Amino acid sequence: MYKASEDRYDNMPYRRCGRSGLLLPAISLGLWHNFGHVDVYNEFKKIIFHAFDRGITHFDLANNYGPPAGSAEENFGKILNEDLKQYRDEMIISTKAGYGMWPGPYGDWGSRKYLISSLDQSLKRMGLDYVDIFYSHRPDPNTPIEETMRALDHVVRQGKALYVGISNYSADQTREASRILKELGTPCLIHQPKYSMFERWVENGLLDVLEEDGIGGIAFSPLAQGMLTNKYLKGIPEGSRAAKAHGFLQKDQITEKVIAKIKSLDEIAEKRGQSLAQMAIAWLLKDERITSVLVGASSVNQLEQNIKSVANLEFTTAELKEIRTIID
Ligand code: NDP
Repeated sequence: MYKASEDRYDNMPYRRCGRSGLLLPAISLGLWHNFGHVDVYNEFKKIIFHAFDRGITHFDLANNYGPPAGSAEENFGKILNEDLKQYRDEMIISTKAGYGMWPGPYGDWGSRKYLISSLDQSLKRMGLDYVDIFYSHRPDPNTPIEETMRALDHVVRQGKALYVGISNYSADQTREASRILKELGTPCLIHQPKYSMFERWVENGLLDVLEEDGIGGIAFSPLAQGMLTNKYLKGIPEGSRAAKAHGFLQKDQITEKVIAKIKSLDEIAEKRGQSLAQMAIAWLLKDERITSVLVGASSVNQLEQNIKSVANLEFTTAELKEIRTIID
């Protein structure tokens, strides 16, 4: 039987999620890749245990994570039920609906029909009565935003989610979603955007909306799916996300130009006494509007490296300027 480490809360910083009562760990773990039925159960189980032992209380899922879709929730549910259930009240578990999950007109996007039935399926797969955070995974241009937000409010009132969030919504869509949710009495807790040194769209308005409306931010793909590490400096290693047929990182994204940037960033990280992955995570956490950084990991070793980024979150003005000249 798994027993959590006694000192699990000693080193991880916890940051307030917007203007809510909820604290999230500076580093959260995402189960998009590496936790499906195509992966090795005993390996990813170790990653989950290590995360919890090191103060990562927040685990992020979605209905379609796998592959196959749904299998990350099934596997996480199994680990929960076998070992982690005793710690349920120490955990923040999130899931989402918004991308294609089942055939026909009701298994995709943002209708009330899809969101509510998908959450029911997610709860079943994970063996849970409720999730802590339920997200609309992406905005739906063909469903009135009021309908999507009412569905989020509804699942909270049903007791199936404690908080709600949105993901991949633009600054304007976020403002609108937040206004509606506030009126309904279920404020938007959190926004989950893609944000890294290589993907900075959130800096053009979204982060300001989050601050104004008291919404927390959790950055996904903070390492640009592994590119912001030193792993691709000497080609594409076997078993890496870019080498896998089902991985979302495509080989052609790793261009000469990108490699040159990675090399320059790696040199700055080295001078700071950090790995590039650690610097990339710290760079996001320097902004308090980013409550948490949502990392992925295919091994305990990677996760441990990433957790250690919290040891140095400070940047000098000169370092920030040097980084900007490389990534701009
Ligand atoms: P990252 O950018 O952190 O990429 C993770 C991958 O990078 C790992 O699987 C591993 O790849 C590699 N890696 C991680 N740490 C290291 C290290 N220290 N050294 C070398 N390589 C490393 O995040 P993800 O793209 O995985 O996204 C994180 C989470 O964000 C997801 O699990 C999900 O929860 C969420 N997400 C949300 C989305 C949304 O639309 N809301 C979309 C995408 C993600 P390798 O397999 O090559 O070892």
